[in-house]
Amino acid sequence: TNASLNFKDYIRVIEDFPTPGISFKDITTLLKDGQAYRAAIQELRSMVEKYQIDLIAGPEARGFVIGAPLALELGVGFVPVRKSGKLPGETISASYSLEYGSDQLAMHKDAIVPGQRVLIADDLLATGGTIATVVELVQKLGGVIVGAAFLIELEELQGRKKFEGIEVHSLVTY
Ligand code: 5GP
Repeated sequence: TNASLNFKDYIRVIEDFPTPGISFKDITTLLKDGQAYRAAIQELRSMVEKYQIDLIAGPEARGFVIGAPLALELGVGFVPVRKSGKLPGETISASYSLEYGSDQLAMHKDAIVPGQRVLIADDLLATGGTIATVVELVQKLGGVIVGAAFLIELEELQGRKKFEGIEVHSLVTY
């Protein structure tokens, strides 16, 4: 529909956020534009609809903003991956590191039925630490990773090397 949309025009780059030296890719400027947001989700859909997918797993918070509408587009379920201490049921957790800082992510133990096919979605792939942790959690629950989809990939950080064998799709690269 919007094949000519250049998504980079909608992403704002803010230098030295949240710490000096980081060139932060701000997607709020894309999200607030209804046409661009919808086009981005539809474009991601076209990249992944070849897979047989049962569920999308997305890490909080920006993974929800991409993963949930993508799940709706595909007609599949959405599973939130949250910071430890947020999910009310029984969980499993694993620690992860970011481009800056580190934390723990958790999933409900019953979020995935073993053998279910899971696509991972997030706004941005940097070092791959976040997604590697989501992969670990999904696999611990018996899920089969079919691929990963991002709005943005920071190529020089080579995050996709962290999961060879998993197909990585991104709309925009820096
Ligand atoms: P990674 O774990 O791949 O190093 O970092 C990716 C995670 O950090 C994603 O969940 C993403 O939301 C967040 N992140 C890191 N850098 C940026 C950035 O420049 N822009 C945005 N929007 N998110 C970032």
